[in-house]
Amino acid sequence: MTSYAEFYRRSIEQPDAFWAEQAKLIDWKTPAQTICDYSHPPFARWFVGGTTNLCHNAVDRHLKERADQSALIYVSTETDEEVIYTFRELHAEVQRMAASLLELGVRKGDRVLIYMPMIAEAAFAMLACARIGAIHSVVFGGFASGSLASRIEDAEPRVVVSADAGSRGGKVVAYKPLLDEAIRLSTHKPESVLLVDRKLSAMNLVAGRDHLWGAMRQKHLQAEVPCEWLDATHVSYTLYTSGTTGKPKGVQRDTGGYAVALAASMKHIFEGKPGETYFSTSDIGWVVGHSYIVYGPLIAGMATIMYEGLPTRPDAGIWWQLVEKYKVTRMFSAPTAVRVLKKQNLEFLKKYDLSSLKALYLAGEPLDEPTAQWISEGLGVPIIDNYWQTETGWPILTIANGVEKKPSRFGSPGVAMYGYDVKLIDDITGEELKGPDQKGVVTIEGPLPPGCMQTVWRDDDRFVKTYWTGAAGKLRYNTFDWGIRDKDGYFFILGRTDDVINVAGHRLGTREIEESISSHPNIAEVAVVGVADQLKGQVAMAFAVVKDASLLVDAAAHLKLEGEVMAVVDKSLGAVGRPARVRFVTVLPKTRSGKLLRRAIQAVCEGRDAGDLTTMEDPAALQQIKDLLAS
Ligand code: ATP
Ligand code: MG
Repeated sequence: MTSYAEFYRRSIEQPDAFWAEQAKLIDWKTPAQTICDYSHPPFARWFVGGTTNLCHNAVDRHLKERADQSALIYVSTETDEEVIYTFRELHAEVQRMAASLLELGVRKGDRVLIYMPMIAEAAFAMLACARIGAIHSVVFGGFASGSLASRIEDAEPRVVVSADAGSRGGKVVAYKPLLDEAIRLSTHKPESVLLVDRKLSAMNLVAGRDHLWGAMRQKHLQAEVPCEWLDATHVSYTLYTSGTTGKPKGVQRDTGGYAVALAASMKHIFEGKPGETYFSTSDIGWVVGHSYIVYGPLIAGMATIMYEGLPTRPDAGIWWQLVEKYKVTRMFSAPTAVRVLKKQNLEFLKKYDLSSLKALYLAGEPLDEPTAQWISEGLGVPIIDNYWQTETGWPILTIANGVEKKPSRFGSPGVAMYGYDVKLIDDITGEELKGPDQKGVVTIEGPLPPGCMQTVWRDDDRFVKTYWTGAAGKLRYNTFDWGIRDKDGYFFILGRTDDVINVAGHRLGTREIEESISSHPNIAEVAVVGVADQLKGQVAMAFAVVKDASLLVDAAAHLKLEGEVMAVVDKSLGAVGRPARVRFVTVLPKTRSGKLLRRAIQAVCEGRDAGDLTTMEDPAALQQIKDLLAS
């Protein structure tokens, strides 16, 4: 086994040789002539001259060896359905969908917007697009008409694939009226809408525009639609970032680089073996759903679980029940979801035989130590934090146990992944911070490795201006996250660059203060923001959710707990980190993808407008904070 350090060094010093090697993990129709064309930085073109197809690599190429093995396992605790599709069946369904899209006039390069709940047809639609070279743009099913309309406007889809309804916690959410309204609001009108009728909600079909998947599928039952061989640089999809820091950005991804990056990550990071089962609890509306529900596991020849439902219904054991039933080996989730489960009894976890499980991967938000500790003890398997972005498509920082087994460290997502030349930069001087334990902005020296964004959809200028800094020839990609690297190369993410607090000249990441506060035994979750202060420049304000709200009987109890929390911070960070106030709420404002909306809290604290809130989960959460501040 090579050492990871050696593996990493090779990826940075001899990227062409390194990635040419990784490219062998997938099937190509024609091999690449140029591994990386970086003649127009920061635009990197990977595997130029090569032709391949994502759907071929995810589905067709497995038919020879594993046609009758499970490929897609669809489980819904909302409609009580469980359907297993083998690779052969998935192949047939995808061709039926591809034939239907072709019938509706979709051609290579056309956009197809997918606005779907977590049902198997959503994956069929994504794979069908990849098969014929159409560009998919998946919009999270939880978004309402306004957000959907702006995405229709931007993607200009020829066809929209949708469904009558989704369901959440047993409550039906009708999609069709939201879609109709979004199309009405948008200046771009899709020619056709293909609808899956789940019989959850009645639909008014628009004659000439709306088509039912059931009927189309029947018509194309025997369809044979070959994979279109696409240039490696052909756009596979566009997808929006979560909108945590402002208006979401439309990320554009290629075909060949993405396929190689995913295949490599499945081997080196997730150690996925063909025939095993992968379970990612994310949603296809997010990048994790694209990379690690649909494409990654299937490319690796694994079965993948697509779960529609809450982690707590019918009870908090549902995920673990699925792990037992389908012998899941690799599971991917988010710290937010684990924190939801943490409020429940550990017994739910102990009830099931989890011996198949080899690791749990968590990403999307900082993983606080108490949460990591709790789930690690409960599961008895390695908990592997991984840090990345919609923009990168696969982990920037984590542990590559498939290359060399390394221990993970609580609080750290890990080391720089192969292909990512990660540099910490002093945000004031712009100098690289080479020593250990120095705080700086996490940047990546161009070119970005395969799988990362090509550009911002239809806006090269925004791509360059938003993300890239530094001198020509030495351009750096800015992650907008703030971090620190220890002497062993392990990184710690300290928060977003927007969230750095400057208290009387001391620079602190909100994350550092949050981490400290969450170590108090009665704190379930906390958000810290920096608020302008005449005297100190900025002060920290904390909003916390308590585990046991019954302790907060009266004002005195509030003050007592606030004092305790401050004492915890004083002890770990010193008085500079101590928040000016610690206020208690029952829920924190988050994006639909479960990220804390610190910028909205900060704006409210400073009496400013809260900005773009289209991706916010629960407006009542922000209202609670407003009410508190007014009281
Ligand atoms: P937007 O870019 O629209 O403001 P967003 O940054 O939340 O939204 P995503 O691409 O979904 O959109 O999230 C990526 C960000 O999530 C990272 O830049 C980082 O701030 C945070 N993040 C992801 N994984 C981790 C992790 N393991 N530890 C700490 N932070 C993480
Ligand atoms: Mg971001």
